[in-house]
Parts: sequence; structure tokens; C-alpha cells
Amino acid sequence: MMWSKRCVLIVVLGIILLCESQRIFAVVRILEAENAELIGVYENNSLSGYSGTGYVAGFDADTDSLKYRFTIEGGLYKITIGYALPSGEKGYQLIVNNIISEGMLPAGNQNFMEISAGKFLLSSGYNTITLAKGWGWYYIDYIKIEEAVPLNLITPPSTLSDESTTDYTCKLFGYLREQYGSKVISGQQDLAEVNYVKQATGFSPAIGAFDLIDYSPSRIEYGANPEGDAESWIEWQTTGGGIVSLCWHWNAPTDLINETDKEWWRGFYTYATTFNLTQALSDTESENYQLLLRDIDSIAVQLKKFQDAEIPVLWRPLHEASGGWFWWGAYGAASFKTLWQLVYTRLTDLHQLHNLIWVYTSGDADWYPGDDYVDIIGLDIYTNATSPMSGEWENIQLQFNGKRLVALSESGTIPIPENIRSYGTYWSWFSIWSGEFIHGISSTVLNTVYSDFDIITLEELPDWETYVVGISNPGYDLKPGFCIFPNPASKTLYVRFQNKINPGYALKIFDIYGNTLVNIYDHTILNMYSTREINIENFKEGIYFISLFSNDQLLFTQKFIKK
Ligand code: CA
Repeated sequence: MMWSKRCVLIVVLGIILLCESQRIFAVVRILEAENAELIGVYENNSLSGYSGTGYVAGFDADTDSLKYRFTIEGGLYKITIGYALPSGEKGYQLIVNNIISEGMLPAGNQNFMEISAGKFLLSSGYNTITLAKGWGWYYIDYIKIEEAVPLNLITPPSTLSDESTTDYTCKLFGYLREQYGSKVISGQQDLAEVNYVKQATGFSPAIGAFDLIDYSPSRIEYGANPEGDAESWIEWQTTGGGIVSLCWHWNAPTDLINETDKEWWRGFYTYATTFNLTQALSDTESENYQLLLRDIDSIAVQLKKFQDAEIPVLWRPLHEASGGWFWWGAYGAASFKTLWQLVYTRLTDLHQLHNLIWVYTSGDADWYPGDDYVDIIGLDIYTNATSPMSGEWENIQLQFNGKRLVALSESGTIPIPENIRSYGTYWSWFSIWSGEFIHGISSTVLNTVYSDFDIITLEELPDWETYVVGISNPGYDLKPGFCIFPNPASKTLYVRFQNKINPGYALKIFDIYGNTLVNIYDHTILNMYSTREINIENFKEGIYFISLFSNDQLLFTQKFIKK
């Protein structure tokens, strides 16, 4: 009896798995480029290996594009580009309905290849997909559209690469892991901009991201004065309990060109220095090698200040190396990896810095320094504001899902929570770059993001003193446990909350005279967040209060406006 039941179960499971895999991997459609509307581009077939009757070449003018118009059943689809390149990697621009995405087509010996452009929401009925010029000079064979579901994120291991890491560093990492896949932690570059976000939205970024740039010895030689910078970031952390992220635009140790447009202060750019990394690394007795060590040692002094204050750091050195625009990436992957490992071992072993969570910023597998030297993967993405960044997300997860947390470590645009939920792009955190990037985001969008219940702000972070990884902390349950939206609201008010303390809760809405207009009572314990919809259509326009009670104890009150 047991046996036959099990057989039936296996058969049923098999059928479910089969259906599931067919549903996910079913190729819905191949749209041959040569059958699209061709604007300024032409069909070609001199390279072999294409699909259909040819491919499309001639992307050389800004207005050149190929455009598809087709009908489909609405839903989430994976879009893959079939392409070839006559020379090195090229950037493409893909416009799906009104959403503009940019991405890279990796180079590969003139063969036809595929790259995922990510997942996109297509609407029922007509949709358009346009491949625009981007960097140009690419050949497009086809676009493949497959049904998709958001990626199933797997939480990576709990151990950090540094075996001697401190408890408080583990605690932060544990917190990041706990949020991964369901919440995105907000972050902002530069202290002044962190304050700007607070002013603009009423919420503070949970992560303050700062740059050790001016601590580079070759900048100090030219008069840079970073005095007090590190102390001000430490003060920000100790007063508000935020999370610190540090990057380092490392000015080349020497050989700065220092002429017009290549001034000393641009010395972290490849074009502004002749510093030869490969040569410096090849001889550990050489002056340039010693200068590398001098610079690492001077940065260790700053990092030590954070360790002395028991502050863990999301440490993001040598970022964007594979792009080649910074000198540490200008001499290829091998030299870069050697330098990364040198920085790692010198800071960890010689300087005994055990408060660092090592964030490697690149999507390129060839440049990955190895699991022993990296804790988190960061992507720095500067793209169109409408882009859901799902292509970058999908491609990095092919390598790192279940292995490393993935963060949007720098961005010129802010991820929209609605997109995060639809596409499943649950970055561990985002951090928006300073200046025009954060100020270019409209206050409406900034408010939408910072008041969203899936975005963690400083106000929602746990009390690190009492926080225990994996064991919920009553104080923490109460703090982030209540959120209403939209505000102002006209028809429906959504209330999202959690109540782990006592069984039973009441939600009450009062007018400004204290009259109770709504009284919802529920006897259940809510271990998970719960969202209640309250119809307020019949309320008069004006100001109201909503309160959450647990066993007659008032937990929260929030004001909202009916419009
Ligand atoms: Ca083709």
C-alpha cells in the first residue's frame, strides 16, 4: 500500500515537473531580424551560422534600428538576443514598448551567440520591440521570446571569506541575508546626499556610501585634505545606526600625467596616469610595488578607525575593473586579480582588519578574484530611468545565485519597487550616486521608493546591540511593523503590518474629533506581514488617523489624508 502510494506520488511529481519545465522553457517565438521593419539597416548573409535567411547589419547612424510589432498573451517573458560581432564587445539598446534597456553584447570570434536581455512584462495584444543603434556595429540574427517566471533566489552561505571576522560584522551579514529576496535596503552615496534624501522624503537611506578617494597618498601630495571625512561617517553611523559602505577611487600611486583634462585629481582614471600595474606587480622590490603597499597601508589606517568603533564596512575597493576605465583594470584580469588578492591579504592578515565585508563590483566572470576573497557581488549600473535592470540581474544570477548576495552597489537611477516585485530583482541593496544622479530623480519617484514597504530605510533597521541573527527581536518587530499607502488615498487605504507580540489585533480609524469610523478586529497572530484593504471611498476629504492595537495596547498611529 505504502509502495503504490509512493509510485503514484512519483508519477504525479514527474508530471508536475515536466509541465513546469515545459512551461518555463517553452520557446514561444523566434523573431528573425531579417523579417523585422528595417530602418537604416539591411539584411546580410555573408557570415555563416545564422538562423532564418540572414541577419541584419548596418547599425551605424543614430537613427538606425530594427523594429518588431507583434501580439502576444500578456505576462513576463525572457528576451534573448541572437547576435554576432565583427570586433570587440558592443553596447546595445533595446526598447520594449516604452521601456529602454541597455546592455552589453560580449565579443566572441565572429560566431553567432545569444545573450539574455532579461525579463520584460509584455502586454496582451500589440507590443513593440526595437533594437536601436546603441554603440552600433553589431549584427542581429533574431530575438527570442520565452515565457518566464521571476528567478527563484537562493540565499547564499552564511560564512564570510575572512575566517577571523568579528561578531558585529557577521551580524550585519546575517541581516543582509535575512532580507535577501524579500526586501531591498536603501542606500545613498555621500553624506550631504544622505541628508538630502531625508529632507526630500522624510526617510533616511539605511546605507551611507562614502568614498576614500581623498585619502589616496598621491592626492594628498597635491593638496587634497580629507581630514575629518572618516570621522564624520563614523559619527553618522554611531548616531543613527546606519550601515556604512566604502569605496575607494584610488588615485594611481605615481605617474600622474597632470595636464589639461588629465589633471592629478583624475588620477584614478586610466587616461590620466601612465602607472603600469603589471610591471609594478612583477617585481616586489620595485619602487612602484612599494608605492602600492604604501597606499594600501594608508587606507588601512582609515578602515582601522571603523574597526576601533566596531563598525562593519561593506568594503568595495577596485570597483568596475573589467571596464578598463580605472587604472587597476587597465592591464587585464590577471593583474587585477593579483592586486585584489594583495589588497585582501594585506588588510586582513597584516593590518588585522576583520570588520570588512568584501564587495566585488563587476559582472565579468573572468575577473572574479575567487570565493576566498569575495563576500558580495555588486553591480554598478548607469542606465535609462525606465529600465527594470532585469537583464543585468538575470545575467549576474546565472553565475552567483545561491553563492553570493548581489547588490546594486552604484546606480544612476533608482529601482522602482513595482518593478522589483514584478521582475523579482531583489537587490540586497541599492545605492544612488551623488549630484545629478540623485537630484535628477523626481521627488514623487523618490517618495514612492522610500515610503514603499519593500524598501528598508534607516528607520527600519534593527537595534544592532540587541539584534540576533535568525531570532526575531521584539523591538524590531514593532518598529517596521506598520505602513500605510497610498497617502493621500481616495478609495482604498492599504495597511501593511506585522504583530508577533500578542494574538489579536485591532485596526481603528479616527477622524480629527476622535470618532471611530472603522474598527477591524482579528484574533490571529501574524508572523508574516499582512496587508489589509480598507475602503475609505465614503469618507469626507480631510485628515484621519489610523491606529494599530494589540490587546488594547496602542502600537502605532499614523496620519493620512483622504482626497
Ligand atoms: Ca536571422
